[in-house]
Amino acid sequence: MKLYLMTDLEGVAGVLDFEEWTSPGNIHYHTARELLTHEVNAAIDGFFEGGATEIIVCDGHGPGAIDVTLLDSRADFLRGWGDGPWPLCLDNSFDGLAFVGQHAKAGTEYGHLCHTQSLHHIDLAINGLSIGEFGQLAMCASELGVRTIFGSGDEAFAKEAEALVPGIETVAVKRGIRSGTGEDLNVEEYTRFIDPAIHIHPIRARERIRAGAVRAVQRASASDFGIIPLTPPFERVTKFRPSEEQPKKTISTVTHPTSLIAAMNLPDEPVGME
Ligand SMILES: [Zn+2]
Repeated sequence: MKLYLMTDLEGVAGVLDFEEWTSPGNIHYHTARELLTHEVNAAIDGFFEGGATEIIVCDGHGPGAIDVTLLDSRADFLRGWGDGPWPLCLDNSFDGLAFVGQHAKAGTEYGHLCHTQSLHHIDLAINGLSIGEFGQLAMCASELGVRTIFGSGDEAFAKEAEALVPGIETVAVKRGIRSGTGEDLNVEEYTRFIDPAIHIHPIRARERIRAGAVRAVQRASASDFGIIPLTPPFERVTKFRPSEEQPKKTISTVTHPTSLIAAMNLPDEPVGME
């Protein structure tokens, strides 16, 4: 079984906020990269124990966050997206798609550092179904016939993944503790709104991820799950929050007659909203 492992930083246990943890130059960015890479290694170890034969780790956080010097040497490493950019170099040579360090979509109640693409996004929906970064790649994978089998991140992300991909194996490593969606906040307010969470200790988070990764591969070998049904045509609607530069909410609608991946690759066309 050949796996594509997508990684992100905001869903890792111990990664606390945007201000000090998630960008190059932040005081704790180096520590955040270590925490992510150890979670990724826990997943790799579990996948191989479960029966995986090949794993490509994709460094998906915006500025990059995998510390390749710490990465399990059995895995290969992908950075840079090629044409599209969707589906991010995923193709039908893979048997499964997995996620580590993933956060929930923008506006999720009890999400931690939840966002979709950027903190400017209020929502992204395909044919009326609101999805986040997980859903976007999982749907692209489904169009290619690649199953989505595993995801770790915060608890709100785990619920989002289970709702979209019945049967997926998930592991939650922290839990956001504030209610409300923050829909009416501007970018600066929303960035602070999604900070509070209770984290599992990183050592225990890795143990859970490793065990979940074993189960995911074993279950995927024994049963069929992980493909999201897709019905063309595909309409992608994206809503953006106000910011200091753009004081109104904006909305973009693009459509493609046959391909979700092509719809994801169309440029946004934002227009002002009330
Ligand atoms: Zn992300």
